[in-house]
Amino acid sequence: QEKDYQFMLRTRSPGGFIPPQLYLTLDQLSDEYGNHTMRVTTRQGFQLHGILKKNLKATIAAIVRNMGSTLGACGDLNRNVMAPPAPFKTRPDYQCAWEYADKIADLLTPQTGAYYEIWLDGEKAISAEEAPEVKAARQRNGNGTIFADKEEPIYGEHYMPRKFKCSVTVPGDNSVDLYTQDVSLVVMMNQQGELEGFNVLAGGGLGRTHNKEETFARMADPIGYVDKDDIFDLIKAIVATQRDYGDRVNRRHARMKYLINDWGVDKFRAKVEDYFGKPIAPYKPLPAFKYKDYLGWNEQGDGKLFLGISIENGRVKDEGNFQLKTALREIVKQFDLPMRLTPNHNAILYEIEKNQQQSIEQILNQHGVQITPEGIEPLVRYSMACPALPTCGLAITESERAIPGITERIRALLDKLGLKDDHFVIRMTGCPNGCARPYMAELGFVGSAPGKYQMWLGGSPDQTRLARAYIEKLPIEELESFLEPMFMQFKQQREPGESFGDFCDRVGFDAIREYSANYEFP
Ligand code: SF4
Repeated sequence: QEKDYQFMLRTRSPGGFIPPQLYLTLDQLSDEYGNHTMRVTTRQGFQLHGILKKNLKATIAAIVRNMGSTLGACGDLNRNVMAPPAPFKTRPDYQCAWEYADKIADLLTPQTGAYYEIWLDGEKAISAEEAPEVKAARQRNGNGTIFADKEEPIYGEHYMPRKFKCSVTVPGDNSVDLYTQDVSLVVMMNQQGELEGFNVLAGGGLGRTHNKEETFARMADPIGYVDKDDIFDLIKAIVATQRDYGDRVNRRHARMKYLINDWGVDKFRAKVEDYFGKPIAPYKPLPAFKYKDYLGWNEQGDGKLFLGISIENGRVKDEGNFQLKTALREIVKQFDLPMRLTPNHNAILYEIEKNQQQSIEQILNQHGVQITPEGIEPLVRYSMACPALPTCGLAITESERAIPGITERIRALLDKLGLKDDHFVIRMTGCPNGCARPYMAELGFVGSAPGKYQMWLGGSPDQTRLARAYIEKLPIEELESFLEPMFMQFKQQREPGESFGDFCDRVGFDAIREYSANYEFP
């Protein structure tokens, strides 16, 4: 008899868009076939855990029939395309970011009918209208060969050497962690608020392997600027470059970041230009990128409201007096509201009429869900953790189940040392794959052995600088004795307004090591 194999499945949700019908379906499926929870991922999708093999087909079919998909959410191809989740309805730049996240997701969707053959017996339940320019761009050949004549005109027969991640954002908004993606686009508008083109970055990626120096986390580099009419051809050219030159022998060296690192940006750009058929213009100046989470009540700009809800670890569940899953189900059912999942595993409900605000607040209050941003412990608000044990097969140690206790211990320590008002970005993963992007955190925990973590320091509050590994295996019971000297040094030597990550980066690891070695615990 076959074992009861369990699966995780993940939605394809460009820009984190979850229509109400899909939300209610996922909620129901998680009870019927899953582990009664849903998890918002760090790429703006939903994950369902604990689906038995015999229920996979019914689960995927229900998702597809209810305006969802799981196609391309895993595997060696383009993953869920990210975009800032804020529904600013009167901001054309934000609207463009949503539009192009959808279009790039469509452009890079596999064309095979196998998905529908396997999971829906060949029926294509909902065929969303694809933009004609996307379809045309997929079929158009570049100067280099982009396989216009094949069933998979972009991926060819062998797909990509490794997963491929894209985001689209607006100048200044780093809610998408743009430096961590294989490709990030920044929409560039003209004075009249019309889309002109895109700044393009490439070569980011965080996954690495412990004790393998040749694997590393890397931030994306600016590549250049292209006009809006050229963007699909440029994306195809980048994908074709990685498809044809990415390492297909060693999977640990297969992400595009290694290709760019080995070649250098100039050679990479020149090769992309070969496929693209023309030169790429220089990257345009941009304002500094800031991290934004859009929690609490906000104006959409069109008279309606949106509500950002902080979800600890992205886990939508009912537990004791905390009944987030029930509350969201009631709200979505009653008011038929769409949702945008955020890259920090939170959720935004939108299209809310002003006269619905009070009832929605009441439902959340009655179910123990805190929605005032100031009422949320900031260490928790800005933290992220991957699922790790017990659901992820790659986990070396705990993450999601450990982080609530860890943020509590760090808060207690900060309070004890007179740093009550301080907080910083904490991210934790159960293995070096880095799903919760710990290498961009001010304090990153990366599981390195059971109960032990590699500690990363020096990232910035806005995720614009890579952190660095400070220590390889910190036993988690030694957390306070590890952090106390650093926090005291931070308190004594920080510059006005300086954050912990910026401080660590400025003073450097040698100075931190020296101070810690000479620190006398009271
Ligand atoms: Fe699993 Fe590692 Fe990703 Fe965590 S970081 S979810 S342990 S693969």
